[in-house]
Amino acid sequence: MSRIGVFVCHCGENIGRTVDCVTVAKKAASLRDVVFSTEYKYLCSDPGQTIIKDAIKNYNLSGVVIGSCSPLMHEKTFRRAVESAEMNPFLCEIANIREHCSWVHEDKEQATEKALDLIRIMVEKVKRNLPLAPIRIPVTKRALVIGGGVAGIQAALDIADGGQEVILVEKSPSIGGHMAQLSETFPTLDCSQCILTPKMVSANTHKNIKVYAYSEVESVSGYIGNFEVTIKRKASYVDNSVCTGCGICQEKCPIKKIPSEFNTGLGTRKAIYVPFPQAVPNKPVIDAEYCTHFKTGKCGLCEKMCGPKAIRWDQTDQFIKEEIGAIVVATGYDLYKIDKKPVDSEIKGYGEYGYGKYPDVIDGLQFERILSASGPTFGEVKRPSDGKVPETVVFIQCVGSRDEAKGVSYCSKICCMYTAKHTMLYKHKVHNGKAIVFYMDIRSGGKNYDEFVRRAIEEDGAIYLRGRVSKISQQGDKLLVKGADTLSGAQVEIEADLVVLATAVAAQPDIVPLAQKLGVGYDKYKFLSEAHPKLRPVETNSAGIYLAGACQAPKDIPEAVAQASAAASKVLGLFSSFDLEREPYVARVNESTCVDCEFCITACPYAAIARKEIKNRAGQVIRIVANVNEGKCQGCGTCVSICRSKSLDLAGFTDQQVYAEINALFI
Ligand code: SF4
Ligand code: SF4
Ligand code: SF4
Ligand code: SF4
Ligand code: SF4
Repeated sequence: MSRIGVFVCHCGENIGRTVDCVTVAKKAASLRDVVFSTEYKYLCSDPGQTIIKDAIKNYNLSGVVIGSCSPLMHEKTFRRAVESAEMNPFLCEIANIREHCSWVHEDKEQATEKALDLIRIMVEKVKRNLPLAPIRIPVTKRALVIGGGVAGIQAALDIADGGQEVILVEKSPSIGGHMAQLSETFPTLDCSQCILTPKMVSANTHKNIKVYAYSEVESVSGYIGNFEVTIKRKASYVDNSVCTGCGICQEKCPIKKIPSEFNTGLGTRKAIYVPFPQAVPNKPVIDAEYCTHFKTGKCGLCEKMCGPKAIRWDQTDQFIKEEIGAIVVATGYDLYKIDKKPVDSEIKGYGEYGYGKYPDVIDGLQFERILSASGPTFGEVKRPSDGKVPETVVFIQCVGSRDEAKGVSYCSKICCMYTAKHTMLYKHKVHNGKAIVFYMDIRSGGKNYDEFVRRAIEEDGAIYLRGRVSKISQQGDKLLVKGADTLSGAQVEIEADLVVLATAVAAQPDIVPLAQKLGVGYDKYKFLSEAHPKLRPVETNSAGIYLAGACQAPKDIPEAVAQASAAASKVLGLFSSFDLEREPYVARVNESTCVDCEFCITACPYAAIARKEIKNRAGQVIRIVANVNEGKCQGCGTCVSICRSKSLDLAGFTDQQVYAEINALFI
């Protein structure tokens, strides 16, 4: 026979104001198999826990029900308490009479009745609980960081500084991400490359970090602590172990008119190239699409000129397998392509702004390259069409952001700030120039951010017009910008030399296949989903996979770096012990009744079920049954509900327990 103890918590006034805890405890004492029942002001306090521990011993309890706050809050506290009184911790259940009762009801009498119902339900459940043991999973102490922008670099450095191995995978030939393309950063106007380059070098030379540039994640299998990842190292046709990075091959390569991705198409690169002078690793790659050797079998100048003989025409993509314990996804963002509709097919775009049609209508990242000392104009502000210094520059904010009809509904968060920075940097370089900004609102939340925007207006003389631009057209060598100043109600027409569009921050266009390989969710804009927006912002619903930076949502550099460090601390926490302890709430298969229909395999959202062969003594396969991988199973219960032969059950939430809970409502 069960011997259940019930403990009702007042939570000060939190529960006690709405639920008559004394009455609940008294009535609970008369429930079948309850041998002890009491109430206390704060059960999670030390004296509260002592009451529970003493009762377990004095009344020889076989199960405990705590009527208190959500299990998320103190289930662990109470389980530790019962364990210290030598009771199996999984024989303790929580009836949530706070969030599910006192906080959501006003009528004391009815709330008291409901609290008693909730306790009775848990009493019936706990009577059927079996002692369970946590699952222990060995952990491979090596992390994979996907994406070598500032967030990925920071996460890799923090994990590596914590003494653990890291593999940093970057799809471009160099790490650095978008931050390497920026001129200066708000609100301090530090040179972006000056602050980033030391971090890039540290990552590349850190004894615990292996950088795979020009590489992609091909496949991921396994589960927390035990992932197996295949990394594709794209053929660069250069042997990095031999190449000294001397650069002669690039100097001599005759194919020179290829639009440079790093310079956002405003400059050119060669067929053999490093994306930018400070690239890390500083090893060139050959672009086979443009290289004459690959097209006609001729040229080969790079090979002839290369002293150490590093060119390898026969190099192919390599596939490297790595054992990994945790993954940080830091794949960053892209800019909303207003001429290409990247995010979803409903987007209509901004054809009226002439982006892609008029060479002097550019986006914010292109202006960064124009402002940058390492850019196509070596930091001189010149317009792309004719190289003239623009005397009037119009900046348009929220191009694509906060515009459900033509773009995305969210605020891109960084454009107000980078536009203010653009006006400042432009005015610092073109003293007599006019910077005019069209804006909807100024959103400058952040340390010293609002002051920064005011500085752009008050000290550097940027002119801010609240309103939208309706059309841009080319008039001779000028751009006619037509719009409305909604504060004065006037229509405005501005003759501009250059227009800079603060286009929305968008998800990476190739993120979906990666998210699917990782089993990580994403929202309708393809930003990756965190496990909980407030309480688990860097975790995903796939255990052992964490998020850092703008792959989750638009973020500025400080936020991306902070999130990267948070993700790294999660990884280090996971790696801090030899095994990973998990709650034993996983699905279990009754192999004697399983008919190998595979329904559960198809239904499991975490790919935690596979087929298992059952062999006879002679080693012949006699049956195949479903088999749950305890490391991967998240205890969601989907498989249990789909199995027609009732061969699956969830430990801790068995059918018997669930039916007992339901029946308890009708006692
Ligand atoms: Fe409040 Fe929960 Fe502590 Fe009770 S156990 S005092 S309900 S926080
Ligand atoms: Fe490397 Fe040879 Fe090119 Fe020099 S010439 S950068 S060693 S591939
Ligand atoms: Fe350039 Fe290709 Fe010629 Fe080498 S072989 S120099 S990469 S065009
Ligand atoms: Fe076996 Fe049930 Fe899965 Fe079918 S659904 S394979 S019967 S466990
Ligand atoms: Fe998969 Fe959920 Fe079943 Fe676990 S409980 S095996 S996660 S369907």
